[in-house]
Amino acid sequence: MATKKDYYEVLGVAKKASKDEIKQAYRKLAMKYHPDMNKDNAKASEEKFKELSEAYEVLMDDDKRARYDQYGHAGVESTFRTGGFDWSDFTHFSDISDIFGDFGGSGGGIFDQFFGRSRRGPQEGRSLRYDIEVTLDDIAKGAEKELRIPRTIACQACGGQGAKHGDYKTCPTCRGSGQVQRGQRRGNTNFVTITQCPACGGSGKLITRECTECRGTGHSQTTSSIRVSIPKGAEEGMRLRIRGAGEHSSDGGPSGDLYIIVHMAEHPNLMREGSDLFTDVPISFTQAALGAEVDVQTLDGTALVTVPPGTQTGTVLRLKGKGLPDMRGRGPGDLYVRVSVVTPSKLNSQQKEILKQLGQSVGEYQKSAQKKPFFKGFKKET
Ligand SMILES: [Zn+2]
Ligand SMILES: [Zn+2]
Repeated sequence: MATKKDYYEVLGVAKKASKDEIKQAYRKLAMKYHPDMNKDNAKASEEKFKELSEAYEVLMDDDKRARYDQYGHAGVESTFRTGGFDWSDFTHFSDISDIFGDFGGSGGGIFDQFFGRSRRGPQEGRSLRYDIEVTLDDIAKGAEKELRIPRTIACQACGGQGAKHGDYKTCPTCRGSGQVQRGQRRGNTNFVTITQCPACGGSGKLITRECTECRGTGHSQTTSSIRVSIPKGAEEGMRLRIRGAGEHSSDGGPSGDLYIIVHMAEHPNLMREGSDLFTDVPISFTQAALGAEVDVQTLDGTALVTVPPGTQTGTVLRLKGKGLPDMRGRGPGDLYVRVSVVTPSKLNSQQKEILKQLGQSVGEYQKSAQKKPFFKGFKKET
């Protein structure tokens, strides 16, 4: 965006060029850069052709040109759809057809190239999104889930056509082709524009008697039961696509897709990061000093973890391979256990006496032992 070229430069014309001069320049460059003429380098020439056409669109329009002259690119941005100039902002197709001849009949011509399915032919149905929450256990073992998805499907009574008993006729406006041509003569030039037939919406057919079930819409509401497999090790935010499980297309195109977004429900004791798991385990002051064996919850039950004598609070122990399976086959992750020493807070007088004696025996910390802390990530403290 920042390096957008000057429109006059793009077309190689002077700032005060007349419309005729602009048109001539566009014609010359369009011939040179039309993607159909540059099959070896179609992508680059398509970009170039689009750039030329954007400049042409602005400079051929008095209002847009005046804004551009005054404010530069910022002045015309708002006249395009969001995301900048797009072919749908271009209004001079008749000029292109004038340069290259009628491109409607050839098929695979520039219309197909630039509009793809979005303008021509039946549209795909709407895609749907469903957010699913699964447990850590589901992710560890993989799971099958059954979802209830409300969506539109083809009307059963008319097979999605909208007409009762196949009661439709060929559209008289376009004679079944779904497209109409509009010819216009300006000066010595014939302009031909091809657009979707407004009478039938491009289907080439008109309904004579509407289906009573769907009132001619061709679709009905339903709640589909859809099975989905959550793969082992599924990552947070992972998108699973089920083709054709979206909404029915209203004009005979394929149904849209269903996207299932996987989220993991909070686990009470285990936290996940990638295929590794993390947990905090409290131990007592004496367990830390003397060493102990403690039970730690894992994915498949519990593991007996040995805390060595003299363990400090914050020490991280690693249980290798006790994490989640990895989706990319890199082997399972690990379970990191961080131990925290719990200082006793409610002591009776006898316990206090024992600790006092212990204190005298091990000695107290000296001020000289104080040092600057060295912060490290939890995971890296192994
Ligand atoms: Zn028609
Ligand atoms: Zn119907």
